[in-house]
Parts: sequence; structure tokens; C-alpha cells
Amino acid sequence: MTKSFYPPLRTLMGPGPSDVSPRVLAAMARPTIGHLDPEFIRMMDEVKQMLQYAFKTDSPLTMPISAPGSAGMEACFVNLVEPGDKVIVCQNGVFGGRMKENVERFGGIAIMVEDEWGKPVDPAKVESAFAANSDVKILAFVHAETSTGVLSDAKRLCQIARDNDALSIVDAVTSLGGSELDVAGWGIDAVYSGTQKCLSCPPGISPISFSERAVEAIEKRQSKTPSWFLDQKLVMGYWGGGAKRAYHHTAPVNSLYAFHESLVMLEEEGLENAWARHRHHHDALRVGLEAMGIGFLVDEPYRLPQLNSVFVPEGIDEAKVRSQLLANYNLEIGAGLGALAGKVWRIGLMGSACNKQNVLLCLSALENTLSGMGADIAKGQALPAAEAFYAE
Ligand SMILES: *Cc1c(COP(=O)(O)O)cnc(C)c1O
Repeated sequence: MTKSFYPPLRTLMGPGPSDVSPRVLAAMARPTIGHLDPEFIRMMDEVKQMLQYAFKTDSPLTMPISAPGSAGMEACFVNLVEPGDKVIVCQNGVFGGRMKENVERFGGIAIMVEDEWGKPVDPAKVESAFAANSDVKILAFVHAETSTGVLSDAKRLCQIARDNDALSIVDAVTSLGGSELDVAGWGIDAVYSGTQKCLSCPPGISPISFSERAVEAIEKRQSKTPSWFLDQKLVMGYWGGGAKRAYHHTAPVNSLYAFHESLVMLEEEGLENAWARHRHHHDALRVGLEAMGIGFLVDEPYRLPQLNSVFVPEGIDEAKVRSQLLANYNLEIGAGLGALAGKVWRIGLMGSACNKQNVLLCLSALENTLSGMGADIAKGQALPAAEAFYAE
């Protein structure tokens, strides 16, 4: 007979999922009720309000999609891109490549603006792309590139889109709750995120928001949105102000309890405080790693606090280090992707995982493991350096 599954207790310091708060797990285990139950609808109204707070927008078309971040990405592109539309897509890592795929699958023309992996999107290149192409409908870019640990200047890029009468689609999967994000203030037209990065929640839900300009563009579509499930016109009836809630699909009730709880926690902490916490523990981790002699891939001003890409010491088998961290410390960190595979690790400090205990665990586990393999690192320096930082 097959037995019940009990996962091991891990500390998740990779690119996501990150540690889930026990409060969120407890919320998820509460009794399932009907998705049209008045109490459930009341809870969903609170989810919408708290999500507007998290995104910093008052747009009524702000809601969770019942699927992971990739579905939020698809929801933005499938609703806004029509056959023949020109979309400037910025690529400086894995996720920009997926945006290109989305544009092309929905019949759009992707105009690529490429930057090296580990560098932010260059606004000057985006301006040149607008100058070289007329009638660009959309600018799409990743705010926080989880594949490299780079933060791009979303405010500036959205301003360039506005100056050129284009809409913006922004991937905020890893930035929401971890780095400053101001959807209305920066004039973002379509934004999507995920629950498993900086929101201390399990994967499976994708919060999205559309501006008034985006809603107008959706309403003016010439062709029918090619996805039924993600067609926002059908969902607007459910989510629009005062609309009667009718059956669209069965909402993942318990996952939404979890999401509600994670948003309650974010409100309690305060958005700005959550951003500051990510920066604070990133600084402690950085001080410790640098004391050990481990350097960062990304230049200081563009580093994401919640995703640290750091160089693997010379001659070290990075995969062996990760499997030892998992086996001996129940600690998960991420591998490098693409051209960075084998060269960097990606250490996440996201949501609930972003705390002092995890920073110290990671530094000591990494130092022990690396010195056991004979790596050329400074020993006995990392923990005191991080402790001194925390004591300041
Ligand atoms: C994780 C991630 C996604 C995809 O989210 P899923 O929930 O895995 O579908 C998209 N963009 C970025 C920047 C991410 O980090």
C-alpha cells in the first residue's frame, strides 16, 4: 500500500518557491467552502483590496489568476497582443525570452532589445528601438530578473513607453513584496506576479493588474482573445465594481485562503518595511559572503536583494555543493542558468525565508561545505562579519 507523503523540512533559499509562513500553511488547511459562498466572496473582496495595496494601484481590474506566474504572463500578452501588433521585448535573462514566445504565439511581432545576462535593461537601447520602429503598441520587460538577480529601472522604462504612446507589460513575479514597485505611480499598464517568491505563500496563484488604458485596449480588440480561460473580458464581469459574481471557473478556494493570509501579513508588516527587510538581510548575507571571498555577478546598483547571484569558487563542482547543502543542512539554493550554469549560485532571500537565522545558516553551511572540498575561501570570517553587521 502506498503511504501518505510527508515532505522533508527544508529551508528554501533558491529562486522560488521560498519558505512558506506557518500562518499561511495553517490558513490553507481551513475548511473548504463554496467559491460562490457569500463568505468566500467577502474574502475575495479583501484579497482585491490588499492586492491593490501591494501593487500600489486602485485599478478595479486587480486580481489573482488561478494558476502560477507563467499564466499571469500569458494573461497579459494574450489580452493585449493582437495579430500584427509590434511589441518591444527586453531580454536580459530567461524570462524575457518567454515574453518573446508569448508575443509570437499570439501573432505579434517581437522587436528584441537585448542586454547581457547580469546587466539591467538599458533604457537608451529601448529609446532607440522606439525611434527605429513606428506604431509600437507595447513595451514588455522583466522588473526583477530571477535568472540573474538583476533589477531594471521600471519607472524609467514605463515613462519611455508612455512618451511613445505605448502600453507597458511588466513582469513583477520576483519584485512584488521584495523591492519597490509602484504600479500606478510608474504608469504600468499590465503587471503580473507570483505567490511563491516574496509573498511567503505556496506557488499556484498569479496576481495581476491592468490599468484603465489596458482595459480600453482590451475592449477595443478587433479579434477574439484566443484563450477562453484568460480572457479578461469574461472576468471583468466577475471582478468589476459591484458586478454580480457568476460562475467562471471553480476558484482554488484553499490556495486563496493562503494568499489572503500572506497579504494580511504583508499589510501588518507594511510594504515599505518588507522592502527594507529584504535589503537589510541581503546586506548581511553580502558582508558574510564577501568576507569569505565570494563575489557577486551583478554590479552593486542593480543587485536584487531577494536573489543573489554569486560566483562559485575556482575548481568547485557547484552541483555537489548544492546536493551536500540539501543532504546535510536541508538547505536549498539555486543553480545558475544558461551561460551562467556551473559558474554561479542563486541564493534567494524571499518572503519568509528572508531572515537573520537563514542568513547565518546559509553562511555557515556554505563555509563548512566549501572548506570540506578544499575551496580557496577565507575561513572563520563570514559569521563574525554578518554578526557584526547585525549588531550595528
Ligand atoms: C518564477 C518566475 C516566473 C514564472 O512563475 P511561475 O510561477 O514559475 O510560473 C516568471 N517570471 C519571473 C521573473 C520569475 O521569477
